[in-house]
Amino acid sequence: MFKSILLPIDLGHESSWRKAAPAAVALAKQHGAKVHVLTVIPDYGMAVVGSFFPRDYAKNALAASEKGLSELAAEHVPEDVLAGVTAVHGTIYKEIIAAANAQGCDLIVLASHRSENKDFLLGPNAARVVRHANQSVFVVRE
Ligand code: ADP
Repeated sequence: MFKSILLPIDLGHESSWRKAAPAAVALAKQHGAKVHVLTVIPDYGMAVVGSFFPRDYAKNALAASEKGLSELAAEHVPEDVLAGVTAVHGTIYKEIIAAANAQGCDLIVLASHRSENKDFLLGPNAARVVRHANQSVFVVRE
């Protein structure tokens, strides 16, 4: 049923892949699908904030994130299931939705929230992705 799965990961929080990556891989194997792994480097919010960062910050941050993501993917997603890894800049939930559309994904698998956030059982980005994505979303509860 599913052909292409997007697995968005926050490189700073293991809870974003600890349960979600095995779930994405299991679903991929079950459906003969591939897994795209994505991380988003949040943008500064205000242009004026960005002006205080070194000029090559964006390029370096993307390269470092893509390297970290490749290492993580190699550890958690089997080679024959992995379609690719991508790091982008932007607003997290918007970039997750844009990547799902651009990669032609038909399922997004993500962890519900950070384990230390006990008050909300669905984090802000997960909630927005569920609300706005065209694709089915599989939320892995922390
Ligand atoms: P919390 O604030 O508790 O971390 P979020 O809604 O931000 O809740 O996180 C839920 C999920 O959203 C994560 O497990 C991950 O799949 C996705 N996500 C969050 N931040 C990023 C990010 N920077 N890049 C890619 N995906 C992210």
